[in-house]
Amino acid sequence: MSAPAINVPAEQMMELLEELAAFSAPGPGVSRLLYTPEWLQAQRFLQERMAALGMGVRMDGVGNVYGRFPGSQPAAKVILTGSHIDTVLNGGHYDGAYGIAAAVTALHYLIQNFGQPLRTIEAVAFCEEEGSRFPLAYWGSGNVTGLYDGSEAARCADSAGVTIASAMSGCGLACRPEDRGAAAAAGDAGGGTPLREDIGAFVELHIEQGIVLEQAALDIGIVEAIAGQRRYSVKVAGSTNHAGTTPMGLRRDALAGAAEMLLAMEQAAIAAGDPLVATCGKLEAAPGTPNVIPGEVQFTLDIRHSEAEALEHFCSFILDVFAELAAKRGLTLQVTATLATSPAPMDTGLNRQLEHIARRQGRSFRSMVSGAGHDAQLFSPMCPTAMIFVPSRAGISHSSEEYSSPEELAAGLNLLTAVLYELAYKES
Ligand SMILES: [Zn+2]
Repeated sequence: MSAPAINVPAEQMMELLEELAAFSAPGPGVSRLLYTPEWLQAQRFLQERMAALGMGVRMDGVGNVYGRFPGSQPAAKVILTGSHIDTVLNGGHYDGAYGIAAAVTALHYLIQNFGQPLRTIEAVAFCEEEGSRFPLAYWGSGNVTGLYDGSEAARCADSAGVTIASAMSGCGLACRPEDRGAAAAAGDAGGGTPLREDIGAFVELHIEQGIVLEQAALDIGIVEAIAGQRRYSVKVAGSTNHAGTTPMGLRRDALAGAAEMLLAMEQAAIAAGDPLVATCGKLEAAPGTPNVIPGEVQFTLDIRHSEAEALEHFCSFILDVFAELAAKRGLTLQVTATLATSPAPMDTGLNRQLEHIARRQGRSFRSMVSGAGHDAQLFSPMCPTAMIFVPSRAGISHSSEEYSSPEELAAGLNLLTAVLYELAYKES
């Protein structure tokens, strides 16, 4: 069967994006934190909009919203596309919302132009991905894929002491581990287990949030893998002493030691090359007084790579280097691992399909690694998963300055729509 012409006008998507941006707490940019009134209004609005387009709509027990067009083969697994509705504090119009607005637009276009699909297609607005309010992330896709079982809701609280469970009940939601397996049919007003075992493929469209595509003047990024991450908390201890009376040769300066470690890490990361990245984002020296040699320094490490072995190798190498440098200076070193996520490879077959379509649609593209985490990484162990990027102006994201042009957004929309057509309409 030859591929039909896909030419989705972007107006519907652009309008939806603008409408979603209006659901925000006051202040610069868009602030739509999980289970806040503006968050609930956005999810309610989406449900109304999806229903108006003829989709079967439901909200699950944690507040993920689905819009569904059933396929003619009810036993076939669902083709799912979408992204997250939450934002960081003072975020932009596109992070997350773009993937949702495009998903709704793509599905509507497919139904209008090609009628009922063979396989059910669904657009999803995951309730949370950013980790901006509560001390966890991927709360939406994590409940769908089984990373979480809902029991976390009682334990996890925001900075004001409000637990996830109580914030949820404020939105009329409840998700308990014992709800698992409960029916969650399309058309439910709300509730039901978030866990899904019926997903056949997941495709997420997202802004790049980096500068790679813009610098290379490319239309599309096809994600090969989402980088794995290791985070550490490092404590370096030496001796606190008088800045005036302690000769340079007799010091055990924890901050000078930490500085040497961090420069060594930067050099090693540059030598390792892309896609490895290593960052110290936070550092505190104690006692933090101008005339006292710092006796203790605490800092964080964030190290990412798309290949598990390379990530492991770099981390153990650099921690060995830290230990040598500490020993040389008579400092003690204490390293605590605070986060470890595995790299998530995207589906190579789906990526070949995306390349093929991108060529047919006349788009320039490259394959690339996503250094940022995304909902798609949770689906990749479960089902064929793909992720499409469009350029971000100046690579800026998590800011009200976030921008991608309507043309760039439309290119992503058309690629998404065409791959959804192949997944949902073609006999396999
Ligand atoms: Zn995002």
